[in-house]
Amino acid sequence: MTQHISPWMDDELIMLQDSLREFFAKEMVPHEERWQKQGHIDRDFWNKAGEIGILCASVPEEYGGMGGDFRHEAVIATEQFRAAGFSGFGNSVHSQICAGYILDYGSEEQKKRWLPKMATGEMVCAIAMTEPGTGSDLQNIKTTARLEGNEYVLNGSKTFITNGQQAGLIIVVAKTDPSQGAKGVSLMMVETAEAEGFARGRNLEKLGLKSQDTSELFFDNVRLPPENLLGGVEGQGFYQLMKSLPQERLVVALGGAAAMNKALEETVAYTSERRAFGKPLLEMQNTRFKLAEVKTIAHIARVFLDDCVAKHLRGELDATTASMAKWWVTQMQCETIDECLQLFGGYGYMSEYPIANMYADARVQKIYGGSNEIMKELIARSLTS
Ligand SMILES: Cc1cc2nc3c(=O)[nH]c(=O)nc-3n(C[C@H](O)[C@H](O)[C@H](O)COP(=O)(O)OP(=O)(O)OC[C@H]3O[C@@H](n4cnc5c(N)ncnc54)[C@H](O)[C@@H]3O)c2cc1C
Repeated sequence: MTQHISPWMDDELIMLQDSLREFFAKEMVPHEERWQKQGHIDRDFWNKAGEIGILCASVPEEYGGMGGDFRHEAVIATEQFRAAGFSGFGNSVHSQICAGYILDYGSEEQKKRWLPKMATGEMVCAIAMTEPGTGSDLQNIKTTARLEGNEYVLNGSKTFITNGQQAGLIIVVAKTDPSQGAKGVSLMMVETAEAEGFARGRNLEKLGLKSQDTSELFFDNVRLPPENLLGGVEGQGFYQLMKSLPQERLVVALGGAAAMNKALEETVAYTSERRAFGKPLLEMQNTRFKLAEVKTIAHIARVFLDDCVAKHLRGELDATTASMAKWWVTQMQCETIDECLQLFGGYGYMSEYPIANMYADARVQKIYGGSNEIMKELIARSLTS
């Protein structure tokens, strides 16, 4: 099948793509089934990923990163989906989201303290926004970080946190001023090894993403020095989150587009082999037309995302366009993978076929990173402005 080459790719990125294909095929794909059963990836996979330089790829070399830019992150995110559909490797959260917060808003001391350890895989990072009582309505969080003397005292609970079981560093969204809404929100950095009063809850059982750890987290009078307030100024958290969300949404969409392509490849391969009524399924007009539709949608998604990546590299990806990319691509991901699964017949419903996992994994893409309804709300706000 001809492959889409994005206009922002160059020779160096093509080399990175090739080495990622080799790395994921050797170090990730063969373990995926076992990881799904144990509910998380092996901890040392993070160190292996660090060794080949794919953690914190867009972090400057002086902080231990690869010194790349968002194109490197896009290639890494895409290749992960391409290799395994999804897999539990929570690098999008670690590198493309958390490292970005530290790089963009952290003090020099904070960048030097955490980024090099994240780049080697010594420290896995998570971001904890969602609480049992609130997700979409982020301003309404109840977790507090109150200044007592010269220390913050963190109290609250979080849920659905990606990398929650393996994280050594957690960016906790908390209210430093509970009397305020958005203006009272700050990002508190918790190093789990040193945090007395911190506890991890269950590794949550999920419909899909079985090899990714997703957890409840509890903070009971966790004492933090002021150096653990990201950026050093209270009340900046909501602004920091809003500024970074377009990249998070673009990353979700890139994964969705890569998953669509993977589903298409798997389905073409299967329907070429599987025969019914004396001929391969792929020779039947319905199969051909369905897959022609999937191929068209996947191509439109890639072209739209190429434009988003180019805008993002120029610092021009606005919240409206990122929201369009997130809702539309993830909606298409779910619809096209459903069509592909149908063409596998009963085998499509069996876990040993990747398409079944891809179907289950796709569903959450419409929920996290801001639900698709919130995306439409954000887009709708631009209708009259
Ligand atoms: C596998 C997984 C991984 C996750 N990883 C993380 C993570 O690493 N860190 C983190 O902080 N969170 C994470 N989340 C949480 C995720 O971001 C939230 O689930 C999501 O933001 C929705 O919040 P909620 O579940 O509280 O749903 P709610 O806010 O209760 O919303 C439920 C539904 O109501 C509708 N709705 C809500 N508000 C509106 C509105 N204004 N207009 C119209 N409809 C609306 C939508 O259909 C929405 O899906 C993860 C979730 C999952 C399932």
